[in-house]
Amino acid sequence: MTDRPIALFDVKAQQALIRPELDRRIAAVLDSGRFINGPEVAELEATLARFAGVAHAVGVSSGTDALQIAMMAEGVGPGDAVFLPAFTYTATAEVPLVLGATPVFVDVEAETFNIDIADLARRIALVKREGRLRPRAVVGVDLFGLPADWRAIEAICAAEQMFALDDAAQAFGASLHGQRLGRWGHAAALSFYPTKTLGAYGDAGALLTDDADRAEQYRMLRTHGEGKTRYEVERTGMNGRLDTLQATILCAKMTLLEDELAQRRRLGAAYDDALAGSVGIQVAREGAENAYGLYTIRLPDAAARARVQAALGAAQVGSGIYYPKPLHHQPAYAAAHAGSIGGNGPPPLPVSEALSQQVLSLPMHPYMTEDDARRAAGVVLTNL
Ligand SMILES: *Cc1c(COP(=O)(O)O)cnc(C)c1O
Repeated sequence: MTDRPIALFDVKAQQALIRPELDRRIAAVLDSGRFINGPEVAELEATLARFAGVAHAVGVSSGTDALQIAMMAEGVGPGDAVFLPAFTYTATAEVPLVLGATPVFVDVEAETFNIDIADLARRIALVKREGRLRPRAVVGVDLFGLPADWRAIEAICAAEQMFALDDAAQAFGASLHGQRLGRWGHAAALSFYPTKTLGAYGDAGALLTDDADRAEQYRMLRTHGEGKTRYEVERTGMNGRLDTLQATILCAKMTLLEDELAQRRRLGAAYDDALAGSVGIQVAREGAENAYGLYTIRLPDAAARARVQAALGAAQVGSGIYYPKPLHHQPAYAAAHAGSIGGNGPPPLPVSEALSQQVLSLPMHPYMTEDDARRAAGVVLTNL
């Protein structure tokens, strides 16, 4: 094998395109000394809001803090049930628990890997019948960049007077029915962890919303709940600000994002062409455009996955397992899950359990070629 390696992610190739701009921007912040709340934070917020077509963007310190600030603003806490998919990154479940609320895990669809609306409705009904917890919020996750069924989530939240929060951490740039993520639900949480579709050089995140009152609460909560004047604390908040340096780096990287998303879509199409019909792929619902944060396939079982992953490794093709355990099996969350719905306990989560044994993510970043994607797919196909 003399083929060059294909990495799962590449967070450095992009730098060559904008290095002078990055260096100029970083030097300007160093010269200014405004390391917190510099003007670059507001510049980034305006750019994010314009890109997503939303009224307000609020920069925060990470995707996890974005989720936490959004739930703190609603007053989510003890006695509240927060419904979220069992197959997602741990941060989605961690936040309600940190706030004293109870996560209620919902199964996902086999085709989209996103929250299953029928199962969501069933679990809300179970919680209501029991009357112990108050159905309070739904966190929809756009897993691997593919939008969840937001029209259905919004309809359920409107009917039940629940808060709809979009965990779009993996999906910035995706759209649904012609509308970029950010306007779906009451608010959307973004992560700029380095490997996301828009990545910082450290931790960073943002909240997007059309609701001016919520945006104001988010600004207050990210700065220790400070009100109109400094040291006038109106609400219990946190230190959740976005650094000026990360903001200016993200401003420079925003100039590349449209082209990068277009390349991600080309790579996704190349993978789909090569793999559909042979392995499970994530299928977009009508009107959904994937941002391809990750390209993830579904293999028949854990043995096939181990075999394919070993072959990819031998061919110097990167791969990863997102996620090897559904959240209700995580030691830290199992007790909360068991206690979330009483009686006979919560219904099973068979699709989430199956996916955790079957999924495998293949290289996906804008600085690889469609030939790279076809080569990675070829290794999968010859090792099924
Ligand atoms: C990355 C991620 C988060 C957390 O973002 P951080 O910036 O790492 O805190 C939350 N939810 C999902 C689905 C994620 O992928």
